[in-house]
Amino acid sequence: MHIGIRFPAPILNGVKMTHIQTANLGFPRIGEKRELKFALESHWSGKTSEAELLTTAAGIRARNWKRQAQSGLDIVPSNDFSLYDHLLDTAFMVGAIPKRFGETADLATYFRMARGQARGQAGRSACGHDHGDTTALDMTKWFNTNYHVLLPELAPDTDFALTTNKPLAEFMEAKAQGVHTRPVLVGPVTFLSLARTDSHFDALSLLSKLLPVYMQVLKTLAAAGADWVQIDEPVLAQELDGQKRWALDTAYKSFARDADIKVMLTSYFDTRLANLRLAFDLPVAGLHVDTVSRPDLLPRLPELAKDKLLSLGVIDGRNIWKTDLNALLDRLEPVAAQLDQVILAPSCSLLHVPIDLNAETQLDAELTSWLAFAAQKLDELQLLKRALSEGRDAVAADLKANAEALAARKASKRIHNPAVAARLAAVTPAMYDRQSPFTERSRKQARRLNLPLLPTTTIGSFPQTAEVRQARLKHNRGELSDAAYDAFLKAETERAIRWQEEIGLDVLVHGEFERNDMVQYFGEQMDGYAFTQAGWVQSYGSRYVRPPILYGDVSRPKPMTVAWAAYAQSLTDKPVKGMLTGPVTLLQWAFVRDDLPRETVCRQVALALRDEVLDLEAAGVTIIQIDEAAFREGMPLDASEAAAYLDWAVACFRLASAGAADETQIHSHMCYSDFNAIIDAIAQMDADVISIETSRSQMALLEAFADFNYPNQIGPGVYDIHSPRVPSEAEMADLLRAALKRLKPQQLWVNPDCGLKTRGWDETRPALERMVAAAQRLRADLSVEA
Ligand code: GLN
Ligand code: ZN
Repeated sequence: MHIGIRFPAPILNGVKMTHIQTANLGFPRIGEKRELKFALESHWSGKTSEAELLTTAAGIRARNWKRQAQSGLDIVPSNDFSLYDHLLDTAFMVGAIPKRFGETADLATYFRMARGQARGQAGRSACGHDHGDTTALDMTKWFNTNYHVLLPELAPDTDFALTTNKPLAEFMEAKAQGVHTRPVLVGPVTFLSLARTDSHFDALSLLSKLLPVYMQVLKTLAAAGADWVQIDEPVLAQELDGQKRWALDTAYKSFARDADIKVMLTSYFDTRLANLRLAFDLPVAGLHVDTVSRPDLLPRLPELAKDKLLSLGVIDGRNIWKTDLNALLDRLEPVAAQLDQVILAPSCSLLHVPIDLNAETQLDAELTSWLAFAAQKLDELQLLKRALSEGRDAVAADLKANAEALAARKASKRIHNPAVAARLAAVTPAMYDRQSPFTERSRKQARRLNLPLLPTTTIGSFPQTAEVRQARLKHNRGELSDAAYDAFLKAETERAIRWQEEIGLDVLVHGEFERNDMVQYFGEQMDGYAFTQAGWVQSYGSRYVRPPILYGDVSRPKPMTVAWAAYAQSLTDKPVKGMLTGPVTLLQWAFVRDDLPRETVCRQVALALRDEVLDLEAAGVTIIQIDEAAFREGMPLDASEAAAYLDWAVACFRLASAGAADETQIHSHMCYSDFNAIIDAIAQMDADVISIETSRSQMALLEAFADFNYPNQIGPGVYDIHSPRVPSEAEMADLLRAALKRLKPQQLWVNPDCGLKTRGWDETRPALERMVAAAQRLRADLSVEA
């Protein structure tokens, strides 16, 4: 079932046959029915034991292995499962546990690293210590995906030691179930490259200390019978400096020398020729190449591969469209013909797509016939394998069905709307600009809004409590009437407004209680989007999202948010922000059609939002926030393509927002750090106010804004909403002081670093009260100084 040595290709009827295998790089770990989420949350709340959680987790792994083996897959992964995140698993495995999380490498410590912990919450820690206020590990998006990893924290004195050999445990577990797997590890270079370090310490300098731990894992795997290991180095999708090249060279040479196991080095998300050349020169037995991101490189791979076993990522692991199998075979056959053996695989782990299309009960048949989720992608692999090893005739009926489905999609009336195309063609350059420059706008806005220095606000959502979710569920099921649901939401909104007034926030939000999700809510109201019932994809930890399917031309039949915005504003004299999700984010968090350039789809969405902005304005809303949470993650990994992306991404934001009058204050919110490379583009968006996440990286990213002299106003998040920990007033005041070293007081806003929907009121209330107090304290300091 797996490859030992290379053997010459058999000759069949005079034609050389290539030995074809299929592999998967990773399967979704959340469970078909989101079992992992429910088990985690129940464990965290103290309702279920560690043992119960681990039993659920083992059940998911067993089902995944069985399903993959039964699909006919030759190479099934293990250690692709994680209770929270695979980068956190790696940090934990190598003992990179920062001191503040305690000494014991137990599950409680693991979750503390993921989620942080407030004083007094330490009751569940196995070592029984009160770990005090503990900030979670920093979190960032896994390359250009919407999946979040936890970043290891490393320092010059970090020592590594094997704490838990999870790869071995899971390999043995699968073996006991009769499945011989290929364990997956995050590569040492990717691991170190992503680490958070103090000042300018380069974590790659820890490589020589880290490699022995990896070696130990590889040796134990080999001893247990593993013949191959998959080592993921997605850094290969990025530009590599000398230090990283050296690290790759050092790491893989040492594995080749001592590890006694064959390494399938895996690169994905983007493919660069220069990095491929480097990777093919490393002494690894095989290389996986994502040919979906760069189809043009496919014909060159046999020659580049030399003596290495090639794993071709040919099925898109990031999108949900059926593969055009006939077209793919046209391209694959000449490549396979040059190889004795080859592996066919998805481009990357299937972590990024929903599990099974068959779980969808309400998607219409037409749309369903265009789609493939994880399970269907594995079936596509088997079809390709048969077509390549037995000839296309062997699967003629399947190939014909595939071709028919694709042709039907292309011709479907549902995806083309001539009015949308006409409107796009009529867009003029002036539509991308506000009436006046920022300085003039800000004067007009200040006069109208009359806000204090360091205005306080929040990012939009308030806790989506069990009660709120329950009401939505009941309404969806028809158990709660429209009127009753509406009354419930109105009461929630009013309560939120009253409470914000009470604690003294300056710019209020309506709380987003009516929204299931910041993308879904808009998608459901626009033409061109479809929704799944069970298409969950992990975003971080136990947080999963159901990305909509953007399949056709996008338009807005009627206003989407105006009624709620107007209602909330009618309750108070303070400004209430109108809240929209931006065009890039509406694209980025959806599965987007692959038959139009993303840029064109994005402009369609921007035009729909532009109408919404104008309608909000007409309804008396004075501040409109257009969230571009996913702006940064949409960046192509290849720097040479980044400029083009930023061009259209910025243009789309401007197209959506620039219809607003000067007096209307446009805000934008962006999640996640690493703004340094795009600070220019952020300024180009020309939002009057931006709020950004900074707290987990302790304002480090503000440096970018200081160096660049960011012209407009900005609210660097003063506390981390991704963690249940409630920050102290002093801590937030310190962060504000740090911000004031780099920004003018007139520029600075005070806000959390993201929406509060995942938090409870018990955390939200004290946190925001303290935040307002911190702002007041700073205002007083400033007035003394003046
Ligand atoms: N307005 C949204 C909210 O508060 C923004 C969330 C986000 O950027 N992820 O929930
Ligand atoms: Zn955010």
